Amino acid sequence: MINAKGYAAHSKTDALQPWDFERREVGADDVLIDILYCGICHSDIHQVRSEWGPAIYPIVPGHEIVGRITAVGANVSKFKVGELAGIGCMVNSCQHCDSCGHGQEQFCDNKQTVWTYNARDKDGSVTYGGYSNKIVCDQHFVLHVSDKLDLKGVAPLLCAGITTYSPLRKWKVGKGHKVGVLGLGGLGHMAVKFAVSFGAEVTMLSTSPSKEADAKRLGAHKFVLTKDPEQVKSLDRYFDFIIDTVSAPHDYNMYLQMLKTDGVQICVGLPPEPLSIAGGSLMRGNRVLTASSIGGIPETQEMLDYCAEHNIVSDIELIDIKEVNTAYERVLKSDVKYRFVIDLATI
Ligand code: NAP
Ligand code: ZN
Repeated sequence: MINAKGYAAHSKTDALQPWDFERREVGADDVLIDILYCGICHSDIHQVRSEWGPAIYPIVPGHEIVGRITAVGANVSKFKVGELAGIGCMVNSCQHCDSCGHGQEQFCDNKQTVWTYNARDKDGSVTYGGYSNKIVCDQHFVLHVSDKLDLKGVAPLLCAGITTYSPLRKWKVGKGHKVGVLGLGGLGHMAVKFAVSFGAEVTMLSTSPSKEADAKRLGAHKFVLTKDPEQVKSLDRYFDFIIDTVSAPHDYNMYLQMLKTDGVQICVGLPPEPLSIAGGSLMRGNRVLTASSIGGIPETQEMLDYCAEHNIVSDIELIDIKEVNTAYERVLKSDVKYRFVIDLATI
């Protein structure tokens, strides 16, 4: 076994603290990565605190991982020792069902999607994420990372990036579309960057007046404070698409009113409570309410390559791993610009 150092929570009310554990040996299809940076996703907080159901403790979160390959198994052709690499939300799946065959490993029909942490691997062992110094992973689930971009800003692309890129591509969002991005956090700021890059007119829908200047700097054309009823009224039937990144309960009906006829609201945020939707909010205008879950491995690579070509990275605040618990509190107050990234050299 390989000795690893991480940060773990031991119960839903515990702070994260240093924890030593073991990774499996590098198998024939595996690579070993020395982790350099790992982003803090709001999903980490939901899971550490068992907000989506009971977590497996100790839990080592982290699914926005970039690092350098330090060993490869006998069958590995995709990577060489010394190359940069990334891992997102998944580390395995059956790899042969219809969904896996179509590059949607997150929906493995054989229910064998293995999440990067807080999950059971195929051999029954528990998976541990990127708030750690090393990780072993099947080569299929490891992404190529360009050395042209600032690596610290690349880490969040592995979740926040693909989660916003994928639905914008699926719905062919681009020139001529009016897009509302709801919530300016980790996912929201990437949604703004991608929607602007694809040619759409982008409006930031935020509860935080202090974020207006940043929204414009990120490329948003307009900023609307959703706590102000007058500003909300001005958006009646305005958008073709809304991408909803909010992590907490909120009024879906208010945002659905902002959609044109046949408009689409795409939920990527996943608040712990079920949604409450009035039928009329959808029926008026044949509106569509849909959702999107991360993105498969081929599309994640496509997104990383797009970012390298167009010089897109996340705006981040780099932290020492000892600051991780304070960072969680700041995320919960919507006070992050716009993703915390852990420097694993500090572990
Ligand atoms: P984040 O950085 O905390 O951003 C969420 C933003 O939502 C906040 O910055 C805030 O923006 C807004 N917000 C917070 N509370 C609100 C409230 N009560 N009402 C209205 N707006 C509120 O979180 P994140 O990492 O981007 O993640 C967002 C959500 O996506 C989480 O639920 C996460 O689990 C989920 N997620 C889903 C997927 C997927 O595959 N679908 C992948 C990753 C994450 P303003 O200050 O601008 O209002
Ligand atoms: Zn995430």
